[in-house]
Amino acid sequence: MSLPTAAAVRQQFLDFFASKGHHIVPSAPIVVKDDPTLLFINSGMAPFKDYFLGNKPAPYKRIADTQKCLRVSGKHNDLEEVGYDTYHHTMFEMLGNWSFGDYFKKDAIAWAWELLTDVYKLDKDRLYVTYFEGDAGDKLAADSETQELWRTFTTDDRILPGNKKDNFWEMGDTGPCGPCTEIHIDLRSEEERAATPGRDLVNADHPQVVEVWNNVFMEFQRLADKSLVKLPAQHVDTGMGFERLMMAVSGVKSNYDTDVFQPLIQFIAKEVGVEYHGTAPAKVTDQPTTENEKTDIAIRVIADHIRTIAFTIADGQLPSNVKAGYVIRRILRRAVRYAFSSLNQKQPFLFKLVPVLADQMRNIFPELKAQTAFVQRVIEEEEIAFLKTLETGLRRLDALEESARANGSHIDGKTAFELSDTFGFPLDLTALIAREKGLTVDEEGFQKELAQQKNRSRNAQETEQSDWTVVADTDEQPAFVGYDHDSAPARILRYRK
Ligand code: ATP
Ligand code: MG
Ligand code: MG
Ligand code: MG
Repeated sequence: MSLPTAAAVRQQFLDFFASKGHHIVPSAPIVVKDDPTLLFINSGMAPFKDYFLGNKPAPYKRIADTQKCLRVSGKHNDLEEVGYDTYHHTMFEMLGNWSFGDYFKKDAIAWAWELLTDVYKLDKDRLYVTYFEGDAGDKLAADSETQELWRTFTTDDRILPGNKKDNFWEMGDTGPCGPCTEIHIDLRSEEERAATPGRDLVNADHPQVVEVWNNVFMEFQRLADKSLVKLPAQHVDTGMGFERLMMAVSGVKSNYDTDVFQPLIQFIAKEVGVEYHGTAPAKVTDQPTTENEKTDIAIRVIADHIRTIAFTIADGQLPSNVKAGYVIRRILRRAVRYAFSSLNQKQPFLFKLVPVLADQMRNIFPELKAQTAFVQRVIEEEEIAFLKTLETGLRRLDALEESARANGSHIDGKTAFELSDTFGFPLDLTALIAREKGLTVDEEGFQKELAQQKNRSRNAQETEQSDWTVVADTDEQPAFVGYDHDSAPARILRYRK
């Protein structure tokens, strides 16, 4: 069976909303430079925040796009799930359509249904939808309008009430908010569906009964005193996980079995000489029990993380020891360690994946193709630097295992700090390896040690913000070129040793 291509499925979404009067815009860069509350774009609406807040007028009343998103820090952090489950990624594309004071619930619901069932031909019997059940504290009644609208398209046993956590969206402590309706799909076999109805598994972390699309109806504003007032205009904000949509239209049981990930996975498997079997632990919290599970997790983690690493670098965020740069370095080191420990890659490896990804994404995100050599160079240098200490650090951790077990299965803060300071192990990497060994880490103790060290070297910290210096190989100063440029200027990077 040949898989539907990512390019075609993405285009169908954009064409569909263009046919409904939407203006199609390119994805904003994944790296956020001017918002103190956010390091990376984590949802399709984030670049449009100002329109919802009324700080700027929206240039079009209807917009649709695919937005590169990252969920690795702050309120949304899916890092721990990645590789262990089959439908959360660090970087993913969020397809979205927006109405700024234009259409509202009726059209949004009708179009969502039309797209999924007429265009993508998803089985209506496998779709479940939710509506907000109301909240006494907020004096909000159930969103019966949404419930009624869904009755035009599906049966009552597939229309489920949902609580404030899942079905009432808020931008922050204050600001625009409103009820939402989610669309879930049940991709289990007929036998499994006959045994347990899909409705019982909605929002229950089942890997084949997953949320694909969230449609938010912004009609309120949350004030500082926590009360709600009606907004002067009503807006629609929707987000559909593209990789999950690909899983649904491909009729497979994992995002990794789609055309989005298969080119990367096949490349990794061939390079390292290990077959990909597509196995996963029964629960996200379980450790792999077979060698196949172990290598499959590593392959998924690497296929996932390389997207995050490559796109953030292409969008202007270099790995470093602070803030967003450190988030990227941590993810990169996590991927290096999986390649090293589970796939026996003792030499730089991740950088080889960049051309595969760049080719795959060249039409929709040309910024990566334009900077392939540059991005590869940064990643390879990072790999070289970390591989120098990785093996010794891992040995140190192995040696610790016994004493940690004697110490209540706990790695103390001082040791975790030493691993970070001497061997370049970010805390979350130590925690991950500890988790695999059935140990925990004293994170508070680690933070204490870190604070002490910061005090000691405050001056150095303030001047040295980054490990990378960028110099031009021409007389011209290199300017960062973001996406939609055909080629990046020649840039030479020097890694501070
Ligand atoms: P979930 O409950 O599965 O974690 P969510 O409710 O956190 O999803 P939303 O914030 O509603 O997700 O985002 C809109 C859509 O984006 C979701 O319906 C889903 O399809 C997709 N999505 C969310 N998080 C991820 C992720 N980490 N990887 C891939 N797709 C995601
Ligand atoms: Mg989530
Ligand atoms: Mg959810
Ligand atoms: Mg949701």
